[in-house]
Amino acid sequence: MEWKFYHRMMRNHLGAELYQHSLGVAETAADLALRYRGDRLRAYLAGLLHDYGKVYSSSELRSKAEQMGLRLDRVSLEEKGLLHAPVGAALLPIEVGVTDSAVLKAVAYHTTGRPGASLMEKVLYLADIIEPGRDFEGVEGLREIARTDLERALLAAVEHTIQRVLQRGFMLHPRSVRFRNSLLAGLRKNGG
Ligand code: FE
Ligand code: FE
Repeated sequence: MEWKFYHRMMRNHLGAELYQHSLGVAETAADLALRYRGDRLRAYLAGLLHDYGKVYSSSELRSKAEQMGLRLDRVSLEEKGLLHAPVGAALLPIEVGVTDSAVLKAVAYHTTGRPGASLMEKVLYLADIIEPGRDFEGVEGLREIARTDLERALLAAVEHTIQRVLQRGFMLHPRSVRFRNSLLAGLRKNGG
């Protein structure tokens, strides 16, 4: 893996603040992957790259999506908070040469999650919310749960995200609701 290249490229691409966030997500994702028997280095890479699309404006993201022939649902197109994920994942192979499909999938779904998410997708989703730079009420508790129970931490993380989306008046992606319900169903089945 060309770590020097990826770090330098992302620092230039993202700027200091978003780069700092990405490093936090990368390290947290790597820790979670180690704890839950995932691929540590690829989780780190997914974390480092996950916000690649975030530097573009909504209209830039929409026109890039159109140029690439990316078919996206209404809600994703409306919310930049969602749109940067699928468009970033589609840009990475073209602009950076990243071809690892598990990494790209984790990037594509990092804003909504999805039922049937892979371990890498789960690890990235959670790392984005609990990385060391995050500071919201309850984040410490979330980090604590993440140390012992991935599924329960994910459920709490999705619920946090859904609540924030509602509070801010954004559109809620139906995939987030399905992700939440699938986590809940899994926990209930296992006697939670
Ligand atoms: Fe993001
Ligand atoms: Fe992020």
